[in-house]
Amino acid sequence: MKLVFIGPPGTGKGTMAKKISDNYRIPHISTGDLFRAEIDNDSDLGKQVKAILDSGDLVPDDITVEIVKRRFTGPDVKRGFILDGFPRTITQAEQLKSFCELHKVINFHLSDDVILERLAGRRVCRNCGTNYHVKFMPPRESGKCDKCGGELYIREDDRPEAIKKRLKKYRKESERLIEFYKKEGLLINLDASPHPDVMLKKLIKVIEEN
Ligand code: AMP
Repeated sequence: MKLVFIGPPGTGKGTMAKKISDNYRIPHISTGDLFRAEIDNDSDLGKQVKAILDSGDLVPDDITVEIVKRRFTGPDVKRGFILDGFPRTITQAEQLKSFCELHKVINFHLSDDVILERLAGRRVCRNCGTNYHVKFMPPRESGKCDKCGGELYIREDDRPEAIKKRLKKYRKESERLIEFYKKEGLLINLDASPHPDVMLKKLIKVIEEN
């Protein structure tokens, strides 16, 4: 099962990748996570990419493809994988095609308004990091964490202006990629608005369909 998940922030793509990874016992490979691990380990590569990640720019294609190729040498990848955050450019998609045959590319679709509502309502505990949502998963007492009583705050990048900026960047980045996979006959558009339990069922169905 060789899958690519694409979609903007706020679609629940990461949560679904985790569930599919558990379900099929295939690794969830996020290039963002791979880069952050290199930075945490203070490796040469980590030192090279830290400033790029801090700025929010994309890491050059050759470095990004190399880190994925290296990850693919792991024995756990033999049965398949879920790529998340890769490819992000046409060059990366073409490179990936040259060394790997994908089964499906799932495009998590959600309108900007819904994404804005989802992300702008998110609150995080300053103390223990638990996530809440003012509408969908509110704490028992407003502004206070149920688990530890810590103060709940809004992440800087969850502020509406920041979200709009992230979405604009994402739409620009993904447009050609979506077109590429449509032409390849691999693209499956999935409405990401249902409840996570429903989403998971729908996702498993499209993954297993021929
Ligand atoms: P993410 O966790 O997917 O938001 O990625 C965090 C950061 O890692 C991005 O802002 C980029 O700097 C870098 N990154 C992750 N994936 C890629 C990719 N496929 N191509 C280039 N840069 C990437």
